[in-house]
Amino acid sequence: MTNTKHSANSDSSKNSLSHSSTATQRIRDLQHFGEEGGVVPVIDLAATSTFLNPKDMEQTFLGEKEGCYLYSRHSNPTVNMFSAKMAAIENTEAGLGVASGMAAIACSLEQILNSGDTAGGEIISSLTVYGGTYALFKNVFPKQNIQVKFVDIEDLAAVEKAITPKTKVIYAETISNPLLKTPNIQKLSEIARKHKIKLVIDNTFAPMLITPAELGADVVIHSCTKYISGSSDLIAGVICSTKEFIQSLIDVNTGAVMLKGPTMDARIAHELYMRLDHLPIRIQAHSQAAQYFADQMQAHGMSVIYPGLSSHPQHTDYQKTIHHEYGFGGMMALRMDSAEKAMKLAQKLQDEKFGLYAVSLGFSRTLLTVPAVTTSSEITAEDQQKMNLSPGLLRMSIGYVGDLKTMWQRFYNCYQSLDS
Ligand SMILES: *Cc1c(COP(=O)(O)O)cnc(C)c1O
Repeated sequence: MTNTKHSANSDSSKNSLSHSSTATQRIRDLQHFGEEGGVVPVIDLAATSTFLNPKDMEQTFLGEKEGCYLYSRHSNPTVNMFSAKMAAIENTEAGLGVASGMAAIACSLEQILNSGDTAGGEIISSLTVYGGTYALFKNVFPKQNIQVKFVDIEDLAAVEKAITPKTKVIYAETISNPLLKTPNIQKLSEIARKHKIKLVIDNTFAPMLITPAELGADVVIHSCTKYISGSSDLIAGVICSTKEFIQSLIDVNTGAVMLKGPTMDARIAHELYMRLDHLPIRIQAHSQAAQYFADQMQAHGMSVIYPGLSSHPQHTDYQKTIHHEYGFGGMMALRMDSAEKAMKLAQKLQDEKFGLYAVSLGFSRTLLTVPAVTTSSEITAEDQQKMNLSPGLLRMSIGYVGDLKTMWQRFYNCYQSLDS
């Protein structure tokens, strides 16, 4: 018996920005087959590939020939498959899986900053960014001739005012950590276009929910360690953008990913590729659980921050940017009176199996942190105050495992027992 050969594996370069299709449909329509027609693609582990014609290798090095695999730090068929699926989700022409979210951020920014006539330059960044990103911007980039100006990203006038001839990038996160605000990506992209600079968006908190490229972002990055993985069992990242930008990252002479080397392993790429079919369902489950808990918390008079609540200051903006079929995401925060009280609650919640006191997010189970003393501790006290990050904030990445009513009862019991 011969299996059907599916030689026409989908080609990511055929993706073009489509406003009519949904991300779920784009995931569905991207198909890769195993060598013998398997419904699951194979893992191509080769570090290097043979060339039947030596001339082709020469041309590949010169960048004159495309489509040949040379060496897996440059490109790998399995990593390319994952990258294409991420590009389909983010509705961009191309993608590139890398070793971590930080690699995605550092490499894409360095690629932009080091292009053009002058090396280095300025980045205008939202003050509310991931702690690691903040530390990279504050402590590492300045030594590489890259200056970062932190601004209140919701203040569009302040963003525009901060731009100078040296500015090359505006940088923000779709849903900011930990206060869960969303910047106006569309307006930011208009500002970026006007000044001929790039808009780079970290969409780690909002895969499926928000598609920044449809709102004008030039580069979209993810820490795949979070929702894309969903299992808190690996570290990975991705960069989604135009084909031209992705190619520049793996250029043999000037590519930041190619030359610094934080590439994605083919095994990780396959692992993640298989999980993307479930991503829409997982996000819906996270959203459903988070909305349920947020509604309950609000009904019980707790000071809860969740984009799906009409009490959230940006609820109306969310309605305009978010793809409703996936809900409002799995991230929420609760304001407690002090860090001590927040930690005491987290301890109880862990003891009663509501969640785990751990950094990170996007796991199938609930993860709890007190950002002021942990994940955002890189951020100076002054900046914490500027971004309204109070010490008693308890951040929750809501998981979907467990019966919602039972889980809520556990939460409520823990909360009630705090004062006793
Ligand atoms: C975790 C995270 C990162 C860093 O990603 P790693 O995969 O840990 O390198 C960047 N941005 C955001 C918003 C994150 O949550």
